[in-house]
Amino acid sequence: MSERNVQWVVKDPERENYYWPSEAMKKKAWVSDEKIYEEASKDPVSWWAKLAKEGITWFKEWDETYRWDPPFYQWFIGGKLNISYNAVDRHVKTWRRNKAAIIWEPESPDEPNRILTYYDLYREVNKFANVLKSLGVKKGDRVGIYMPMIPEVQIAMLACARIGAIHSVVFSAFSGKSLRDRMLDAEAKVLVTADGYYRRGKIINLKKNADEGIKGTPIEKVVVVKRLGNEVNMVEGRDYWWHELMEDAPLNCEPEVMDSEDPLFILYTSGTTGKPKGIEHHTGGYAVQAYWTSRWDFDLHDEDVFWCTADIGWITGHTYSCYGPLMNGATILVYEGAPDYPTPDRWWQIVEKYGVTIFYTAPTAIRMLMKLGDEWPKKHDLSSIRILGTVGEPINEEAWLWYFKVIGGGRCPIIDTWWQTETGATLINSLPGIGPFIPTVAGRPFPGTNFAILDEEGNKLGIGEGGYLVQMSPFAPGMLRTIYKDPERFKKQYWSVYGEKIYYTSDGAYIYDEMGNIRLTGRVDDVMKVAGHRLSTAEVENALTQHPAIVECAVVAAPHEIKGEVPIAFVTLKAGYKPSPDLENELKGTVTKIIGPTARPDRIIFVDDLPKTRSGKIMRRILKALARNQPIGDTTTLMNPESVEALKEKIGYREVQ
Ligand code: AMP
Repeated sequence: MSERNVQWVVKDPERENYYWPSEAMKKKAWVSDEKIYEEASKDPVSWWAKLAKEGITWFKEWDETYRWDPPFYQWFIGGKLNISYNAVDRHVKTWRRNKAAIIWEPESPDEPNRILTYYDLYREVNKFANVLKSLGVKKGDRVGIYMPMIPEVQIAMLACARIGAIHSVVFSAFSGKSLRDRMLDAEAKVLVTADGYYRRGKIINLKKNADEGIKGTPIEKVVVVKRLGNEVNMVEGRDYWWHELMEDAPLNCEPEVMDSEDPLFILYTSGTTGKPKGIEHHTGGYAVQAYWTSRWDFDLHDEDVFWCTADIGWITGHTYSCYGPLMNGATILVYEGAPDYPTPDRWWQIVEKYGVTIFYTAPTAIRMLMKLGDEWPKKHDLSSIRILGTVGEPINEEAWLWYFKVIGGGRCPIIDTWWQTETGATLINSLPGIGPFIPTVAGRPFPGTNFAILDEEGNKLGIGEGGYLVQMSPFAPGMLRTIYKDPERFKKQYWSVYGEKIYYTSDGAYIYDEMGNIRLTGRVDDVMKVAGHRLSTAEVENALTQHPAIVECAVVAAPHEIKGEVPIAFVTLKAGYKPSPDLENELKGTVTKIIGPTARPDRIIFVDDLPKTRSGKIMRRILKALARNQPIGDTTTLMNPESVEALKEKIGYREVQ
């Protein structure tokens, strides 16, 4: 309590907009000496070996720290561990046994919360691991997890890890069809889901979507958590209630001895094509990076209450709402519902209620809450907060300053973490005890990692020169190892632009200052970030073209005040169909049904013709410029330049330089 209202940052008297850790922060922080960057870069492989030994409990130490066979790499080869052992077992042997591991807040403020101690979590994980075994799940089998934000989700993930099963979590707001695509690719045997959950007070029948999603997949058994008690269809011999299976499950399940390079999970994310790719993360390297980034980026201590608001369906949820903080023995907060339900101050009320000290969210949420007005956070005592974090897309200055002043009271650093599903854990951000904290600038690469910004020819760029962000060997231990069942796609996607020795991130960036702080400028491919969710334009196009009215369509990202970006679709219609508001709604609804509500286009623009090259390819560059009011550029290579004029009028184009 004595730490309330402490001034954790100070303003640089000379450099506008630079903030630094205060003496109090430097004193408290795990790392506060700038030299760490230099020290780590001298011999990054030994550096990671040292961190791996200190942070993780290994059943057997590795024989070789790093092996690079471009583009593939491995870490801690021959090392044996179990991540669930690291996240629960080792804590129950200490005073943390009855420390809160998970504080769960339901969406309805009238329902009781749940608090699971490390010992509770240990028991539940052991029991559910035995349940999975009883359903025939073995090491290496894939298990789908399609669940709302309830503690059973962390329990299910840790139970899979305990027996060496590979989990693949699918965002609960995704449609049944999206679930099916992923389960088919993963060839999952078992699905863990729930009857339903609340969203803004409304009952969402998740089991119904799950039933749809498992049709035609190899899923043989479904475990259903009774979250709401809503009416669901249970198929005899296939569907089982979680609580019934748990009743008889034995209490002890020895953790499987996993190899460092055994797969831990697959998480599907959007690439530039319509087919989501299964990003595959392996046990040892992921554990090491998740552990240390949780500890250092958020300066995570035993007395902290860490709230990462990301849904478990995203990599941020995996690493910072489950593995990373739990391996640190920390207390995490898990909230089931919407940020503004039932009132716009719900999040701030939760911060006050539990004395949250570390708060990690996304720019889209910050902008949404900012729009609701300062009176909502001002109603609450937010003085427990020490560290603020952001992730998901570049944060704009206005949102940064609001977050800093109104939520952090001008006292707390903002840790702007750049990373990707592929990187498994954060990679570029300032550290709380070192700084600096600069609006819209992420910071320096994590000690022991190797990044550069290159031009198209592969030359390293200097301060202020915009280019492409790349990573070089030794690749961070938590990086993806491959795309599930598709190493060719892995090579093509990440290792073809600059060759097999340079990891291409698909992000634009530049070096901001002489310290090497990096400012991200956004994706340079056809991937959008819609309210922080990653989507490819091709996925939305594939969904739209399933509607019989459509001949052709092109989807691009348009800027949006709150969501950052939203999909807008240009469509041409088949004879017999006429543009109308009803048809527009129907088309939007098709996308919601096929992918989920996040992908719903913001606008459908009916056109007679799309701009095309002479070889018949749609010129997306032009559509993007139109959607963003940017200069259109050269149109001379178009087969139908007149289409652009018609489009300008339709979209209300105003060129802004
Ligand atoms: P995802 O795999 O869904 O986490 O999306 C990864 C992408 O999100 C990155 O390639 C970036 O484009 C973007 N991103 C994530 N965090 C940041 C950040 N702090 N600043 C800028 N862009 C970010």
